[in-house]
Amino acid sequence: MLEIYNSLTRLKETFRPLHEGHVGMYVCGPTVYGDAHLGHARPAITFDLLYRYLQHLGYKVRYVRNITDVGHLEHDADEGEDKIAKKARLEQLEPMEVVQYYTNRYHRDMAALNVLPPSIEPHASGHIIEQIAFVQKILDKGYAYVSNGSVYMDVEKYAKDYPYGKLSGRNLNDIVTETRELDGQDEKKHSYDFALWKKAAPEHIMHWPSPWSEGFPGWHMECSTMGTKYLGERFDIHGGGLDLIFPHHEAEIAQSCAALGHETVHYWMHNNMITIAGKKMGKSYNNFITLEQFFAGDHPLLSKPFGPMVIRFFILQAHYRSTVDFSSEALEAAEKGLQRMQEAYARLQKLQAGKETTVEVAGLRQRCQEAMDDDLNTPFVIAALFDSTRAINTVFDGKGTISEADLKELRDVWQTFAIDILGLRLEEQGAGDSKLKAFSGAIDLLLGIRLQAKQNKDWATSDKIRNELTALGFQVKDTKDGFEWSI
Ligand code: ZN
Repeated sequence: MLEIYNSLTRLKETFRPLHEGHVGMYVCGPTVYGDAHLGHARPAITFDLLYRYLQHLGYKVRYVRNITDVGHLEHDADEGEDKIAKKARLEQLEPMEVVQYYTNRYHRDMAALNVLPPSIEPHASGHIIEQIAFVQKILDKGYAYVSNGSVYMDVEKYAKDYPYGKLSGRNLNDIVTETRELDGQDEKKHSYDFALWKKAAPEHIMHWPSPWSEGFPGWHMECSTMGTKYLGERFDIHGGGLDLIFPHHEAEIAQSCAALGHETVHYWMHNNMITIAGKKMGKSYNNFITLEQFFAGDHPLLSKPFGPMVIRFFILQAHYRSTVDFSSEALEAAEKGLQRMQEAYARLQKLQAGKETTVEVAGLRQRCQEAMDDDLNTPFVIAALFDSTRAINTVFDGKGTISEADLKELRDVWQTFAIDILGLRLEEQGAGDSKLKAFSGAIDLLLGIRLQAKQNKDWATSDKIRNELTALGFQVKDTKDGFEWSI
């Protein structure tokens, strides 16, 4: 049996893909019954970072991120209404209208966060036939049983032959004590058995024919099926949020071992959770903030709107395995950090090469590379880039010089690590906002007139423009080549 790795520590040295030069990667995607929130942004950005970095290292990556559009019940323990079906009933829509609507909105939000689309984005509802075949394999191997038209995993039998609970560090005894007894599970042998196929109740609107009943697949089944369909019976990386380790990923391992006789995943990777003012995000806390609300500043917990790049930067400032606590103040700090990077990036583009390098720029690429290789240590990459802003500013202010070769290297490191790998959009300070562009064009125009007035020794006009802009909250700075301003 393959080893399970819980992280990609020392990625470059220890990561060995199963097929040279190629990486297969599967990540559990969203259940599309509502708008994406911060809890969706973190795994999307974490695995986008990994996807980008593996490609940077020269791998050809097949990245599969699924859309869950059937079988995810309100209580993960096989009980409750299907989340999509419930939304469809409440909104009087066809379930696939709900799926399409929220999938479109998810794609829009991910594009705003500069999350690259995956190579394949399979829907659970599009793989019912494959899921039925997978369930049949588990039945044939004797690790599942049919009860009243539903099919359940026989966890006790499975646990005798395979280490159930390996990924989450649980054993069957822990799981027995943790599992709540719920109503309506008398058809299961044990409360911890999980559904592979569920017979649909008469009011259940999403159902398909199967050898056992008119019904629908259990939630865990889709990932075992679609992962192996698109990446093969053994593949490199499976990712998702920490909250998915149990039961979802543990169940996936059990299903795959039961059906195929071996594990399918070589490396498991989980991003940690986001808390809001120290609390878990959840309906019961009423603290879900959708990404759209962040972008519009439309939530009582937000002091102002926060652009998608601020959210991305905020998430990348923490290591993916640590928790991140959200607050408006933390986002404001992230926004300032991002602005500093944007300023440095803009200045870097304007720098002129000199004869020699008098500033500290050596070793930057190596620092960034080593940090990324060390289990995607993005806070270290960001710290290294921040350190280099000192050199950029020194040269920009005319207090130091940089050689042509060093300038080229510095620009390339920023392009590679900040833009291509961290995926930050640094070039568009106004995030493409045309009003903002017009506004900053007008200030440039005004300061251009002031510059001309100064050259004509028309001090009255020059001072008037400067003083009135200052009174409005602008900071105007004269530089070698003209001027600079900020608010
Ligand atoms: Zn999954």
